[in-house]
Amino acid sequence: MPFTIAKSNSFELLPRNVRLAKGAYWFIKIRWIAIVIVIWSIIIANNVFDISVQVIPLYTSTLGLIIENIFLILLLNYYDKKNNLTNISFLKRIINFQMLYDLFFLVAILHFTGGIENPFYLFFIFHIIISSSLLSKKNSNLIVTYALTLLCLMTILEYTGFLQHYNLWLKNSVNSALYMDPYFIFETLTIFIITSYLLVYMTYSIVSLLRQQERALQHANSRLQEKDEIKNEYVLRLTHDIKGHLTAIQTNLALFSGKILGSLNEKQTEFIDITYNRVIRLSNFVNKLLNLTYMRLNNKIEIETFSIQEAVKSAVSSVNNIAESKKIPIYFHVDATLDQITNNQFSFEELISSMLLNSIKYTLDSGKIDILVKDREDNILIEISDTGIGIPENELPRIFEEFYRASNAKKTVKDGTGLGLAMVKQIVELYNGKIWVDSKENIGTTFYVTFPKDVSVLKT
Ligand code: ADP
Repeated sequence: MPFTIAKSNSFELLPRNVRLAKGAYWFIKIRWIAIVIVIWSIIIANNVFDISVQVIPLYTSTLGLIIENIFLILLLNYYDKKNNLTNISFLKRIINFQMLYDLFFLVAILHFTGGIENPFYLFFIFHIIISSSLLSKKNSNLIVTYALTLLCLMTILEYTGFLQHYNLWLKNSVNSALYMDPYFIFETLTIFIITSYLLVYMTYSIVSLLRQQERALQHANSRLQEKDEIKNEYVLRLTHDIKGHLTAIQTNLALFSGKILGSLNEKQTEFIDITYNRVIRLSNFVNKLLNLTYMRLNNKIEIETFSIQEAVKSAVSSVNNIAESKKIPIYFHVDATLDQITNNQFSFEELISSMLLNSIKYTLDSGKIDILVKDREDNILIEISDTGIGIPENELPRIFEEFYRASNAKKTVKDGTGLGLAMVKQIVELYNGKIWVDSKENIGTTFYVTFPKDVSVLKT
């Protein structure tokens, strides 16, 4: 039973909830990296550099981070399954929770690895940047204030002796006791506090500017789309009208050319035939333009399940007469594992026959054409190769453009519209597929097309 899915081409900004959810997952990834780095540092410091490290408290703090990550993964996956990751305030709470929890453990790790003497506090910068890019300015400032308060508190408590200070120096070296030096403490904290607040301000400003530009781009894009639609509707109406007139002219000319209205002299017959052929070419062009424009405007696809083997056979037989007249055999092979696919059979056959017609058109007599349809897990890959005139390398990037014809094609075959491949590309993109080409002038061309076996699962 055929059914229809609608596709949208529009360029969309990532919604706020998606950005926040990505941020939450991103934090988890970064935390895994940090956990590995901390564990490695403990092992190396202890075993390679002979630095006295507080192994148990450090492993306990790392364990705190591991528990946090496991808890967050379970929580986010649970809400994701229930489709609840759209709730912005919930996501903001998750991110705030991660920041507060992380910063607490970072300060704990810092305390056990030398306190203010250890430049490890620079790691706070990552949290500052990420929070300023995801949360509001006020929220980011609060988080920075929380981090700096913890840092200052730890430093003061160590300075006053309320908290024990742990050295990070080599076991036999003299303790420089920088944590007791008020100048060092003042200098370090002042610079770090100023840097942190400036960082929030700068990151927030840059991200806001980027978002503004993104919004402007989205607006321009939707205006362009509207204009494109108006243009397509105009072309559709125009080509539709022209098609009607052309059909009338063609029918009348056929009466002369078929001598139904009486015989003509040789010169008259010659001119009528030339005109008739021109009209057929013109109506061929108008039909293609009409199809292409119609597809662009009507971005819907009707899909059904059909046999791929039968569809390829049918496409080949629709062009076989033309190929035989040029003594070009068409060989085709469909992987045995491929059977039924869910797609639009008409478009699928149209796509194959359009590419085959090109291969026949641009292959000299007695060449050959091969079609391979390969099974690629969830996708199919179609390869259509010919031994034709090929495409000059510098013109390859342009052949999918509307009305573009390569220089050698124009010399060899006068009759062409430059619309066939644009239409093929439009069909392929409608099915979330890809098309690309490989070609060598005077040797041959291979077109590759890949798309999902079942387009009904496409996210629209
Ligand atoms: P046309 O009506 O000119 O064939 P198409 O849009 O179908 O228009 O193809 C665009 C251009 O791509 C052609 O003019 C030709 O230069 C090149 N082309 C397409 N298929 C082949 C092929 N099989 N071999 C060589 N050139 C090809």
